Amino acid sequence: MSFLSQLTPLIHASYFVAATLFILGLKAMSSPVTARGGIVWAGVGMLLATLATFLTPGMGNFGLMLVAIAIGTVLAWWSGKTVKMTDMPQMIAIYNGMGGGAAAAIAAVEFARGDVHSPAVATLAALGALIGAVSFSGSCVAYAKLQGLMQRTFVLPAQNAVNALLSLATVGVGVAVVLGPPGDLTPVLVFFALALLLGAILTLPIGGADMPVVISLFNAFTGLAVGLEGYVLGNPALMIAGIVVGAAGTLLTQLMAKAMNRPISNILFVPMQAAAGGEGEEVTGSMKEMSALDAASLMRYAQKVIVVPGYGMAVAHAQHKVWEMTALLEEAGVEVKFAIHPVAGRMPGHMNVLLAEAGVPYEKIFDLEEINAEFGTADVALVIGANDVVNPAARTNKASPIYGMPILNADQAQNVIVVKRGQGTGYSGIENALFYGDNTRMLYGNAQPVVAEIIQHVKAMS
Ligand code: NDP
Repeated sequence: MSFLSQLTPLIHASYFVAATLFILGLKAMSSPVTARGGIVWAGVGMLLATLATFLTPGMGNFGLMLVAIAIGTVLAWWSGKTVKMTDMPQMIAIYNGMGGGAAAAIAAVEFARGDVHSPAVATLAALGALIGAVSFSGSCVAYAKLQGLMQRTFVLPAQNAVNALLSLATVGVGVAVVLGPPGDLTPVLVFFALALLLGAILTLPIGGADMPVVISLFNAFTGLAVGLEGYVLGNPALMIAGIVVGAAGTLLTQLMAKAMNRPISNILFVPMQAAAGGEGEEVTGSMKEMSALDAASLMRYAQKVIVVPGYGMAVAHAQHKVWEMTALLEEAGVEVKFAIHPVAGRMPGHMNVLLAEAGVPYEKIFDLEEINAEFGTADVALVIGANDVVNPAARTNKASPIYGMPILNADQAQNVIVVKRGQGTGYSGIENALFYGDNTRMLYGNAQPVVAEIIQHVKAMS
């Protein structure tokens, strides 16, 4: 018995420990208090699984593996250090796509080598390859859109028929790969080309506010693909990690789709503008401007203020100033709460992360369902860099692209102060009637200096 084969029980035990660390890490990530620790635990699990893989009997190409790990580590370290918080969604999209691509690549190598003999295993390998390849090319398109490298929507004539035909063709060639002679390269190559094309064609028409759900869906796809390829390779760590990612991604996708009131099938197969049948309503009237001094006195002498942060607060890095302002208002006896929409900002939990980073206590931060009924009792709703998540068209205008998405009821507050730089629209590109409301005043400017000015005025009033 060789030395390496004697290590087999140790390798299996390491995979088990690694999988346990992934699950514990994921559990810890469910709360902002323990999330950092969760990331470290999961990272240690990944390190352990990687080391164990090096010791697996029959493993070769160590030089290539080390070069790949070195390149991946440098790129991940550099991008993780330099990425802006507002660019996180595209980074998640591309990392996630890489996972799907890696799973598909495992299947490609197994098929090309003719190593998959049992039809059952070949079916799972082909399924994993299909899902992984769709996730890879779809995530690349999502990245390009979010990074502004590609126009937001691109709808083909008879898009759904093209989707259906391409899906059928891909599955058909996949069946040929599974049933055909092992090692026949032509169907394998056609299968992967079709699967990659399918991912891109499915994602191209999706735009507007649906993109976060799609990224999350591809995340679930990647997990599933990795789990299936883990089964093909007989690697328990891959299986468990894949299943955990797949399950977490599926739950997140469902939660986000529910938060936007859009069935997942609708997101994938009915492009938003087309579904809505229009660009949104024409808003009449005018926006009424106010000064930072007026905003400060309105809030300083209010009883209750609800802050609605959005993407603009993130861009302006205004969260620290917002928290400083909150503390001052509270010292003056004002009750201040934060209302977080599930898709505010550009990634799930974006606002929670920023507010936690600024030191806002968790008990001041409320989800949509918890706080929406309270806007009617608030003297002021301070909408800071948010737009789509407070757009009343989502409630009333069937022609609006965001119709049906639950929104924060900021318009029901007695006074609404909207901080933004100018007349810019939100992510979905439509007008917002809230800004024209009789109880709304616009405070124009970059969120950070604007809030700093409010702070100065509040201090002067104390
Ligand atoms: P929006 O994108 O709807 O609006 C942001 C507003 O912030 C803009 O109207 C802009 O107006 C203003 N703004 C931008 N920069 C600044 C600044 N420096 N200072 C002050 N204001 C600024 O943001 P919401 O958070 O309301 O909504 C999020 C949208 O993003 C939703 O449509 C959601 O579906 C989508 N999305 C969400 C993701 C997620 O996972 N959370 C991921 C991807 C998309 P102006 O230019 O006039 O300043």
